[in-house]
Amino acid sequence: MIKTGELDPNFKYEIAKEPGGENIKRCFNCTGCTVGCPITEIDSGYNPRKIIRKALLGMRNEVLADESLWLCASCYICYERCPQDVKITEVMGAIRTIAQREAKSGKIKLGNPKPLFDNLFIDSVKKNGRWHEAKVSGTFMLKTKGLKGALGYAPMGMELFKKGKLSILPHKIKGKEEIKRIFEEVEI
Ligand code: SF4
Ligand code: SF4
Repeated sequence: MIKTGELDPNFKYEIAKEPGGENIKRCFNCTGCTVGCPITEIDSGYNPRKIIRKALLGMRNEVLADESLWLCASCYICYERCPQDVKITEVMGAIRTIAQREAKSGKIKLGNPKPLFDNLFIDSVKKNGRWHEAKVSGTFMLKTKGLKGALGYAPMGMELFKKGKLSILPHKIKGKEEIKRIFEEVEI
């Protein structure tokens, strides 16, 4: 049900201002993106056309709180198929950016743990030059499953460690400073 009193007609402009979101207003609701989407094929709850439609209608709260936003695998199939050059993959990224910003300022709560993992991953690459699997996975498990839940993964972690697939300390890599510099360049 659409609650007209809650619609935000400026939402589409807000998305269009984000990098990649520029062409959202061109969408004419043809469904081409959704028909080819591999995620929709395995989870019918994910529907990029619907998300874009809702965004254009101004259903800001509903779109930003939509957990399925985080399912997009950035495979770019929809991007290739869109007759209107909407760049759906990047539109999803633009909406996620707005959702993350709103969550950071405490205005909304994100139900999906993917952004938490993404942020831990990015922080780890920024700090170490490459992701530190043990720290990222351990922190993620602790935050999402609690101590008891996280301990349940300890045997698997031990197996990975024994096979050399999990390092207790961050990896030593060359070019760590260059990677830091790349982050500084792209972070405005
Ligand atoms: S394929 Fe493009 S025009 Fe068609 S519904 Fe998807 S985004 Fe809109
Ligand atoms: S980029 Fe995302 S929305 Fe587009 S087809 Fe791939 S998974 Fe679906």
